[in-house]
Amino acid sequence: MSEGFLCGYACIIGRPNVGKSTLLNMFIGQKLSITSKKPQTTRWRLLGIKSTADYQIIFIDTPGLQNRRQSSLNRHMQREIVESLNYVNAIIFVIEALVWKQPEEQILSIIGNLKCPVLLLINKIDKLKNKELLLPFIDSISAKYKFHEVIPVSANTGDNIDLTEKTIIPLLPLAPAVFSEDQLSDRNERFFAAEFIREKLTRILGAELPYKISVTIEKFTDNGHAIHIFSYIWVESENQKKIVIGKNGRNLKYIGERSRKDMEQMFGKKVYLETWVNVRKKWTEDPRSLLQFGYETKADS
Ligand code: GDP
Ligand code: MG
Repeated sequence: MSEGFLCGYACIIGRPNVGKSTLLNMFIGQKLSITSKKPQTTRWRLLGIKSTADYQIIFIDTPGLQNRRQSSLNRHMQREIVESLNYVNAIIFVIEALVWKQPEEQILSIIGNLKCPVLLLINKIDKLKNKELLLPFIDSISAKYKFHEVIPVSANTGDNIDLTEKTIIPLLPLAPAVFSEDQLSDRNERFFAAEFIREKLTRILGAELPYKISVTIEKFTDNGHAIHIFSYIWVESENQKKIVIGKNGRNLKYIGERSRKDMEQMFGKKVYLETWVNVRKKWTEDPRSLLQFGYETKADS
């Protein structure tokens, strides 16, 4: 490690669905964080670690800040964000091009009081039909707060992702690396296995159901050549179970195949995956289930 090595944390925040997780994956160059068109896909604070010979940026992906659905699960997600903001060196505030509404105002009112520099990323510029609207939009947003930088980006095409990274580097303090150079995340393989399954569920199921689903990995054995995984999908009712399984098991088959592909790509070996659907009534409100499924509930009591 060189003497002038820089290392620090950059927290990605923003309303649900603006592209935070897609951005994280783009920064790291590998799919770590699951994404979908549905708001609230991300439930966990997840680290994505970018290491070079000169610096290490530890990106923190967070669930979207919002105030609907005040279930225990949602309180867990809010806490994940607020706790992250206490120790970061840069805040990456993500919005969608031409969209600045009440959730954005609300987030600004939280982060505007922190001393930490805030980069505003205007994402999804690839979707913009009329690019001329972008400059006046940037002007009006820039008037709201003294952002460290305002950068239009596209997490889909990778536009200005390098520029964003270059802007973050000087904000990092002189410090040795926290993680080893080859470590991409703070999470283990079991975590990603469960998340990849939850991603497929979120993508193919209707609007509400994804919030009623959790995935656990009951068995994960790696014999060197192949990994055998046994997982449970938890839902809240028999009816939901039927939907998840699908006609003639069609959904479950699709979910299994797609998840297995993601896992094989990440783990670099053959994966044998078995998934079962289980019913646990009202698990999103039950502290014991939340704990079992990995969501901390300490501040809820
Ligand atoms: P998050 O909730 O903020 O983490 O958002 P996600 O990363 O899950 O993305 C939400 C949706 O927006 C997904 O369907 C992404 O594919 C899509 N998305 C993210 N970034 C871009 C982008 O730059 N351009 C376009 N067109 N879509 C994007
Ligand atoms: Mg996300």
